[in-house]
Amino acid sequence: MTQHGTVLSFLNAPLKAGTFLKLGLVIGALLTAACGKESSSSEVAAVPKQDAGGIITVYSERKEHLIKPMFDAYTQKTGVQVRYITDKAGPLISRLQSEGASTQADMLVTVDAGNLWQAAEQGVLRAVESPILEANVPANLQDENNLWFGLSQRARTIIYATDRVKPSELSTYEALADSQWKGRLCLRTSKKVYNQSLVATLIATQGEAKTEEIIKGWVANLATAPYSNDTSLMEDIVAGRCDVGIVNTYYFGRMQKQTPDVKLALFWPNQSDRGVHVNISGAGITQHAKNPEGAQKLLEWLSSPEAQYTFAELNQEYPVHTGVKPSAQVLSWGEFKADQVNMSSAGRLQAAAVKLMDRAGYR
Ligand code: FE
Repeated sequence: MTQHGTVLSFLNAPLKAGTFLKLGLVIGALLTAACGKESSSSEVAAVPKQDAGGIITVYSERKEHLIKPMFDAYTQKTGVQVRYITDKAGPLISRLQSEGASTQADMLVTVDAGNLWQAAEQGVLRAVESPILEANVPANLQDENNLWFGLSQRARTIIYATDRVKPSELSTYEALADSQWKGRLCLRTSKKVYNQSLVATLIATQGEAKTEEIIKGWVANLATAPYSNDTSLMEDIVAGRCDVGIVNTYYFGRMQKQTPDVKLALFWPNQSDRGVHVNISGAGITQHAKNPEGAQKLLEWLSSPEAQYTFAELNQEYPVHTGVKPSAQVLSWGEFKADQVNMSSAGRLQAAAVKLMDRAGYR
């Protein structure tokens, strides 16, 4: 039970229950029905709608192996059961919209502020007034109307081949448009929200015209067609197809764990001006939550010092809580100045960023 989680048939999609040690009567009855003797995936014909007192239901874009350990720990601590499904942000937000008031989801977890902003725009999140969240989550990493809160941070930064590039040759994101990088730059696709948010925050600080010039310069310097993911981009830098790129720090963290002597290093750009682009994973309480109080308590716990180290470290990320240090591996990449632009601008300027990248020929 604790190893595989229970799969419940629930509104046409499986929801998995995390580990639990202390069970309320209702949860116990539900799980007796769900677990059965022979199978962990017996179907539950109907989940009573009024049983939400001790159950929290989460729609999560953050992957199962990154979120389940947190839910398990919360259940161990409180006895409160957490059920979840995982999917991309787009389908989860669409599902919340189409389910409307009948949704069973209490919380939405996504990666990238652009996705959280979209969820807020679509009206599927509710404002949360919480002194705990205000104290734990820095102002620039949460929605100004308290519709969502960051829970971990990642930097989208420059990566380079240590055998072909000296860090002294690097300076800013903008400088990757210089002719010295012609045929040496690799980029992930502009379709990925990470790059849309990066360019959106570039627009926020540089304006549209200057940003478009920068993006055109990047495109002119590309060594290859844009990549579908950061990992294959890094592999191609290692293979010598290009020398520099832009990636999320945790992808490098994963590669470094597997190959400690990989000939790649992170570079922190824009240290003499606005700082490195950081983004978040985060969460909000759904507009039609059946258990908003329970979901708020879970959200508050995820932002707490007790949970922050593990939440971040599961994905080699940075805690949002300023009192919690990241892991030794993450610390080994060195300290940097982060762009303090409010994460909301990643969403607000996303449509403009998409159009701009299209005009600039960035595919
Ligand atoms: Fe990612």
